[in-house]
Amino acid sequence: MTAANPPIPTSHHTCPACGLLCDDLPLDGEGSISASFSCAKSQRYFSQAAAAPSQPASVAGQACDLNTALAAAAKILQNSQQTLFAGLGTDVQGMRAILPLAEKCQATLDHMHSESSVRNTLAMQNSGWQTTTLSEVKNRADLILAIGTDIVSSHPRFFEKLVWNKDSLFNKGTPHVVYLAVDKADTQAGVAPDGTVPTVLAADKKALPAILNTLNALCNPAYAKSNKAASVAGLSMAALTALLEKIQAANYAVVVWSASELAYPHAELTVQSITQLIAKLNEQTRVAGLSLNSGDGDISVNQTSTWLSGFPSRNRFQHEQVSYDTQHYSTALQLKSCDALLWVSTFNPKPPPDFAGPSIVIGHPNMVFERPPAVFIPVGVPAVHDSGTVFRMDGSIALPVKKLQAPSLPRLVEVINQLADLMP
Ligand code: SF4
Repeated sequence: MTAANPPIPTSHHTCPACGLLCDDLPLDGEGSISASFSCAKSQRYFSQAAAAPSQPASVAGQACDLNTALAAAAKILQNSQQTLFAGLGTDVQGMRAILPLAEKCQATLDHMHSESSVRNTLAMQNSGWQTTTLSEVKNRADLILAIGTDIVSSHPRFFEKLVWNKDSLFNKGTPHVVYLAVDKADTQAGVAPDGTVPTVLAADKKALPAILNTLNALCNPAYAKSNKAASVAGLSMAALTALLEKIQAANYAVVVWSASELAYPHAELTVQSITQLIAKLNEQTRVAGLSLNSGDGDISVNQTSTWLSGFPSRNRFQHEQVSYDTQHYSTALQLKSCDALLWVSTFNPKPPPDFAGPSIVIGHPNMVFERPPAVFIPVGVPAVHDSGTVFRMDGSIALPVKKLQAPSLPRLVEVINQLADLMP
């Protein structure tokens, strides 16, 4: 068997552990992900869920049957005047079930990663953006500019699948990689298979607003000519000018950022500076943006919510209408005024935030609590105990994920539907 003629696996599995949704995970003879599979994030996701205890539901920390837990949860929702549905770590089917329940409860909804998503949304609402898909990156990109992110910490196989791939539709050559405001120690993934090292423009991530504003200004010939400053945030004007020239010389540059890694006040303005730079450079060459998602079904939930309610999460059902507010409907603010919390986290065992009122938690069976919630209902983990549909990080396609095991836990969709049936 030669490298050009690899063995054809008998079965593949799709991984929802990050937004790349790799659909080539090898299965062993037992129907589990092969132990030799190299993505540590994926291995962690599957092994954690496969080893999860088959624990029962509980009310106030006391084990009970599902019906008792559902009745207790329904009572909390019926007594609530202002309910917050948060976490929302689920897929398309899960969100399709949650929205009608939210409407019955007249609830506010907020995904656990909205703080990041909103940075992108505000920039897009303000001035639009030009973004691309993973397929375009794979087939066309000849320059990758990673801003403030090493990419692989959150999306481990990005370079393997999309940058160093040999199966592009077009003859694009090996892409060059540039890191801007990324620690040098984190740039190993950008070394090409032929040993070509990436360009590293090291700077403090918090200096990105100044650096991006300078890059935008340098696109203006009058500024570039009259500018007297020698450097910004430790980066020389010559280095920034060389970066712009490199992008302009590329046939298809892709600018990658991660809104969740821009964790400082008003980071939406940084995203907007990135999208403005992309728009300006597009006047002369082809440049596109690619935002890394934060995970836990954020893209799936926001897509589903938008097509069913008209808005992504941070929306509210009230007086037979749906409203949307990127600030006031945040979990942090709503926890100060709501009187009941429904927390959903099926991909990862992320416990709910501190809340003085009653919490209903539906999610990953490995969840650990400092204080038991009023109701806990463990449910199947997507792609392990449960099947469903998940959107890829670029929002362009949704892939089915299949279960690996016979379900030993109820499905989120069934639990939410049964809860909705108990509501008036
Ligand atoms: S890169 Fe992401 S989707 Fe692909 S196998 Fe690793 S964790 Fe899963």
